[in-house]
Amino acid sequence: MGLSALVTFSVACLAAVVRISIVLISGLFGEFKKGSRMSERMDSKIPMRALLAGARRKQPSLIAFTRQLVLAESPSDDKAAVDACLALAAARGSQLGARVKIHRNPNFGNALELRFGPRKSTPPAAKPILLLGHLDTVWPLGSLKSMPCRLSAGRLWGPGTLDMKAGVAMAFTAIEMLIEADLLRREIILLLNGDEEIGSTASRPITEALAKTCSAVYVLEPAQGLAYKTARKGIGNWRIDVKGIAAHAGVDFEKGANAIRELARVIETVSVWTNLSRGLTVSVGVAGGGTKTNVIPAHAWAEVEARIVRRADGPRFERKFAAIKPVDPRCTVTVAGGINRPPMERRPGTVRLFRTAQALARELGFTLNEASTGGGSDGNFTAALGIPTLDGMGAVGEGAHARHESVLVEHLAPRTALLAAMLASWPAHSSPQS
Ligand SMILES: [Zn+2]
Repeated sequence: MGLSALVTFSVACLAAVVRISIVLISGLFGEFKKGSRMSERMDSKIPMRALLAGARRKQPSLIAFTRQLVLAESPSDDKAAVDACLALAAARGSQLGARVKIHRNPNFGNALELRFGPRKSTPPAAKPILLLGHLDTVWPLGSLKSMPCRLSAGRLWGPGTLDMKAGVAMAFTAIEMLIEADLLRREIILLLNGDEEIGSTASRPITEALAKTCSAVYVLEPAQGLAYKTARKGIGNWRIDVKGIAAHAGVDFEKGANAIRELARVIETVSVWTNLSRGLTVSVGVAGGGTKTNVIPAHAWAEVEARIVRRADGPRFERKFAAIKPVDPRCTVTVAGGINRPPMERRPGTVRLFRTAQALARELGFTLNEASTGGGSDGNFTAALGIPTLDGMGAVGEGAHARHESVLVEHLAPRTALLAAMLASWPAHSSPQS
């Protein structure tokens, strides 16, 4: 190739690169114009293929980081182990230039807050997006011995792969892609907690405070099958204690008040509050009582879980549980508990987020559906505050909390590309849930 030909060729290449960059940037951010509608965005030729190719290139490092997180076993009840896993995420965040803040928790795992992108967004009014995840798992230390982290049959296997270390690794990869393409125009907050699997008691106030400053919340929990989650049931827990009167079952039968029998009546009372067509379930999960077969039991107890679809059912259930009375007046019934995760109702702001994701997925070449689930997540808290919340944006796989827990590798790159596109394309002036 002669010098002039080389120059011409180089100029042509440069022009192509500039053109692609302009298309990339204007495509992804065309939607930030106030009032722009989906149809306008769809005309703006988002270079989803470039995003997908980028995600595919990064798939080996995404898997390597997931594996690193999985090898750092992190059961919720082991603070040191959870914190060690969070430290890996903090280091990865620092590599990507994050502003790192650790919310210390004396009893359970800390919460890690990573902020990426400019403190001042473009346009200036754009609020941050909150990415929510957790790094604790339900698996005790040593689970790796019988469930080794390995790639086979198109899956990445191991404790915590699906729920939800792969989802966390996807978030880092999506952010890295946006940084490298210079597409991070607004602040993204990645919050990873260490107590989700035991109810998020310590991290809930942090999650809620950050969510209130954000325009949308994306939750990195696993997909429901292949679907994103737009609704989740709320969860309540109650403990019921029955006190009766102990007596010799043979000598003084009539002097005894059988606490187990009374508890059985209570169990029957609460169980019939289940109403499947209204999405209400009540389940007595654990129960106990008594001491010996020849002693009329003076004490019996049960732990009950209820799930609700509608927010209004929460206070209703709380009133019903509080009003439980013994049939045998010699027994006393004590009830403690209440709703601890409000339902994530399917509301317009969330549906708008889902529709955007669905359109972007179509451009990536796959169909995205929405689903509701009986399971709870930290998305329940943010949705209840009225912040548009889209859930199930993490990995696709099977066996969360089960021995066959695994992630389907083929979905990692497309879902990561979709996550990146969603981080870049959610309208700046989103309206709150109505
Ligand atoms: Zn989870």
